[in-house]
Amino acid sequence: MPENKCLFCAIAAGSIPAKKVYEDSSALAILDINPRNPGHTLVLPKKHYSTIFDMPSEDAGNFFRTVRKLASMVSNATKAQGINILQNNGLVAGQMVPHLHFHIIPRFANEGPVSLEGILQIKRMDEKMLDKMAAAIKTASSEAASSAVAEEVEEELPERKPSFEPKPKKEEEEEFEEIGF
Ligand code: 5GP
Ligand code: ZN
Repeated sequence: MPENKCLFCAIAAGSIPAKKVYEDSSALAILDINPRNPGHTLVLPKKHYSTIFDMPSEDAGNFFRTVRKLASMVSNATKAQGINILQNNGLVAGQMVPHLHFHIIPRFANEGPVSLEGILQIKRMDEKMLDKMAAAIKTASSEAASSAVAEEVEEELPERKPSFEPKPKKEEEEEFEEIGF
């Protein structure tokens, strides 16, 4: 998505309002408009990166320090008994806003010990397959280096449908029209 049509770029630029809880020269934290629990906060870089893969690694350390700081602030403010830090990359992974962001979600004991990754079913893998998978990941710093080992794990991976581009939600498009994007 181009930066001038990105919801979170518009929030960072101040042209769409948001409940800001933190701001510095490179990052912003806002309350989520649909909080999954009170205090649900989103931390985003001011610069547009669609996913974590687009952020230069030299910026990642500083950004993660900000995420950690916000996790403490949200925890202190909500007296949360636990905190989930989530970050989705790509539509198939549940990313609805294609501007890199971390979710900080306070958790409370009355919800029970429910982990958010628990919505995915456990896939049983035997020892041999785990070894192959570990080898594939260890050598995967570049696509070329990993391709030989990756072929061996291919049969264990879920079927892939053709990928598709995230589209802005209808309300988001209307909102952009209202503010003259
Ligand atoms: P994702 O699914 O991309 O990881 O998360 C996007 C999050 O952004 C969702 O939790 C959603 O509720 C939140 N969100 C969507 N539109 C807005 C908005 O206009 N303002 C704020 N503050 N949050 C939004
Ligand atoms: Zn953006």
